[in-house]
This record gives sequence, structure tokens and C-alpha cells, in this order.
Amino acid sequence: MRRLALAAVLLLGACSAGPAPSEVVPRSAAAPQPANASTVSAAPSSAAGAPSCDATASLRPGPLPQAGQMPAGSTMAKIAQRGRLIAGVDQNSFLMGFRNSFTGEIEGFDVDVARQIAKAVFGDEKKVQFKVVTSAERIPMLQSGAVDVVVRTMTITCDRLEDVDFSQVYYQAGQRVLVRRNSGITGVEGLADRRVCVASGSTSLGNVVNRAKTTVSVPNWTDCLVMLQQGQTDAISTDDTILAGLAAQDPYTEVVGARFTDESYGVGVPKGQEDLVRFVNGVLERMRTDGTWSGIYGRWLTPLGPAPAPPVARYRD
Ligand code: GLU
Repeated sequence: MRRLALAAVLLLGACSAGPAPSEVVPRSAAAPQPANASTVSAAPSSAAGAPSCDATASLRPGPLPQAGQMPAGSTMAKIAQRGRLIAGVDQNSFLMGFRNSFTGEIEGFDVDVARQIAKAVFGDEKKVQFKVVTSAERIPMLQSGAVDVVVRTMTITCDRLEDVDFSQVYYQAGQRVLVRRNSGITGVEGLADRRVCVASGSTSLGNVVNRAKTTVSVPNWTDCLVMLQQGQTDAISTDDTILAGLAAQDPYTEVVGARFTDESYGVGVPKGQEDLVRFVNGVLERMRTDGTWSGIYGRWLTPLGPAPAPPVARYRD
């Protein structure tokens, strides 16, 4: 009996000491991936058979109506009647469209552009409701009428012009590469034997998928940052605007290499609303000439360098 009790104590002792940590925790516990991460194997088919067009020529604006006096029957009058503009923006791209974690407000360069449109309709830049959209949600949200405009790092392309309309160019960005410091990668050429992360539904995906060994797509650019931090990707490749925001959020990362694409941002508008396209172009024209554009650049984008001249408008009629 005594012997049995001793054995039990020994057994308990062994249990409480437990096996060595290496026996229960696998040495290479895989960190979870962001939701909806998937590996992309080839360029989307649309990239191959893309229609050609003069993508950055938009519709010439007439004189802007006074705020609060939108022409009867116009798309702007409907927005005015509702009492607020509905703008699709990002909440994940620091500097361009992001949620300020102190105030809970969505802020950034794109957000200020959307506010200027609201100000032109209402005389009040606060009369805007922001709907957060991912890269892939931009076109469906415009097509369903869930938003009046999309102001979200959206490149004007001939492909997209099949589905939605665009304002004139309000910002000229270009695609680059973000890596962990000391990665040895110095630009897009260095991705040939590496993994890259992009947002699904972005032009960035099509621009890089055939230049990297492996491409993973995720819903948001911040998902890519998490994957880079966890060592699940070697690089992120997208517009310099978005990468500047990610680099500012993580000092262990750096932007490398030259721009290898032109990304001309336009305000997305549902098809068939010519009056709204012309109105937005009038707002952008005014922002360019009265110094508002440079002021907004100075507020958000100085990490990209001193304010350049705003893009020159091009019109097709
Ligand atoms: N400008 C690119 C695009 O429109 C990338 C930016 C983004 O996905 O937010 O797809």
C-alpha cells in the first residue's frame, strides 16, 4: 500500500513537471494567414486582353453650380436631397484612407478629396458618409449604386472604364516594392525567386504576378504588412502612396527600386452619370487652381517628398 502511494506521488510529480516544451510546441508553429489569403498563379485574363483607350481623358467640366444650388434633375440634386454624399474609401491605407485610432475618424488624402466633393454640393465638407471598400469591392459598389463615388487609390484603366466612369486624374502614383530592411531585395527584379503579397482586385496584382515566383493575394494592404512581418511573404508591391503609409507604420520595412508603372488615380463614378463626372472634374479643377490640392498633399503626403505640381487635366470633350 505504501509502495503504491509512493508510485502515485512519483507519477504526479512527473505529470506536473510535464514533458519538455519542445515535445508539445512544434518548433515551427505556422502563424495563421490573413482571412481569404490565396495564391495567384497567373495574370488575370483581363490583363491579357485589355481593351485600349485614352484612359486618362475625362469629361470637360462646365462652371460649377453654387453649393446648395444643384441643377434640378441632376445626379448632384439627388445627392443634395439625400442630405449627404456617400463615398467609398479605404480605412487601411495610412496617409490615403485610414481610421485614426485616437478619434475613430477616417482620414487621409483620398478622404479629403471626397470631403471637397461634399463641400461643393452642400457647402459643408462634413456632409459625407464614408463606406469602407476593399480594392476588389470598388467596382461592384459603384455598379450597385451603394456609393455615389469611390475615392480610393483607384487607377483609371481601360478595363475598368468598361464598368465605371472616372474623373480626370487627381493623383499620379506608381508601383514600387516594400521589403524588410536588409532583405537584399533592391527592386522588382529581385522578386523573380521570391514571394510577393498584393491586394486582390488591384492593378498591382496584374503588374507583378508574372515577375515574382509566388504571388499571394489578400483583401487589404495591411493584411500584406502582417504577412511581411510574419515572414509569410518577402515583399509587398503596390503604389508608392500605399507603400509610404505601410513603411511609416513599420520602421523595419523600406521601399526599394524605382516606380515601374504609372498609376493615375481617378474618382470612380457609376456609368451613365455624366453630370456627376463633369461636376467632380470642376471640383478637382478648382482644387488645383486655388491651392487646395497642394494643401491636402502637404497635410498627408510629404513622406513621398515635397508637393509636386498637381496632375494636368486632360479632356476628351
Ligand atoms: N492603384 C491600384 C488599383 O487601383 C492599387 C491600389 C489599391 O488597390 O488600393 O488597383
